[in-house]
Amino acid sequence: MAIASDTQPQEKASTEVSGEEKKRWTLNDFDIGKPLGRGKFGHVYLAREKRSNHIVALKVLFKSQLQQSQVEHQLRREVEIQSHLRHPNILRLYGYFYDQKRVYLILEYAAKGELYKELQKCKYFSERRAATYVASLARALIYCHGKHVIHRDIKPENLLIGAQGELKIADFGWSVHTFNRRQTMCGTLDYLPPEMVESVEHDASVDIWSLGVLCYEFLYGVPPFEAKEHSDTYRRIVQVDLKFPPKPIVSSAAKDLISQMLVKDSAERLPLHKLLDHPWIVQNADPSGIFRG
Ligand code: AMP
Repeated sequence: MAIASDTQPQEKASTEVSGEEKKRWTLNDFDIGKPLGRGKFGHVYLAREKRSNHIVALKVLFKSQLQQSQVEHQLRREVEIQSHLRHPNILRLYGYFYDQKRVYLILEYAAKGELYKELQKCKYFSERRAATYVASLARALIYCHGKHVIHRDIKPENLLIGAQGELKIADFGWSVHTFNRRQTMCGTLDYLPPEMVESVEHDASVDIWSLGVLCYEFLYGVPPFEAKEHSDTYRRIVQVDLKFPPKPIVSSAAKDLISQMLVKDSAERLPLHKLLDHPWIVQNADPSGIFRG
């Protein structure tokens, strides 16, 4: 692949072309194609790097909006973390550059788009599909945790699907590189574990909790602690008020796995490597990590 890079956020748009000289990208290096979507801070376009013909997704963020929302620091951290991760289930960030008004992120293109939309379309996933995604995410999170990166914001909106149907974690906006236990409030309430809702110290096991919430949502179509009022969601999370509705029908093996992940005491949550050996995963997940429909 022609675009292989390590970005250094302190420098201006530093990107390496594999084995060659350091490359400083500009907009002229790309042919811009169709819009892929719109985010809070800008737009995402399909693009082709002219020299290599490599297809990428170019995310264009407006500096003014980033400044207004005071998220420059968060973006810097996201770029720094994501550009150093290499895993088939983590969206690559090849590099970045900027001009006076905009910041451009050169991202791996996820041809099948947002997982969130798929889930809306299907309402809920089959056990085979859910298990395949959960196993892929567990592998990606094991990789992240091995590099002392905690994601802290695993939810359907942050997941994309690649051309082969493989899942890609796409948003590292709330992730941290850490050796210590953290004590900051972040993420969306529905996916937050008790220790983050209560703002006590937390560590990599927050991602096990979120993966449990996600597994539930894949199988039931709604997150487990959903409630009309924020305060009720808060209470349900803190009390781990976990209920399995009769419909859709979900196997007891799947419920067993979810119950072992959604545990209040973070030290008691099923470790991710053990999750991969759980009978529900072993029996349902496609070993290739690809859901073929
Ligand atoms: P975001 O600003 O990250 O929320 O992106 C806005 C929308 O653009 C997303 O909801 C996706 O539909 C689309 N998108 C973002 N990144 C990619 C990508 N790497 N590949 C394909 N589509 C993307």
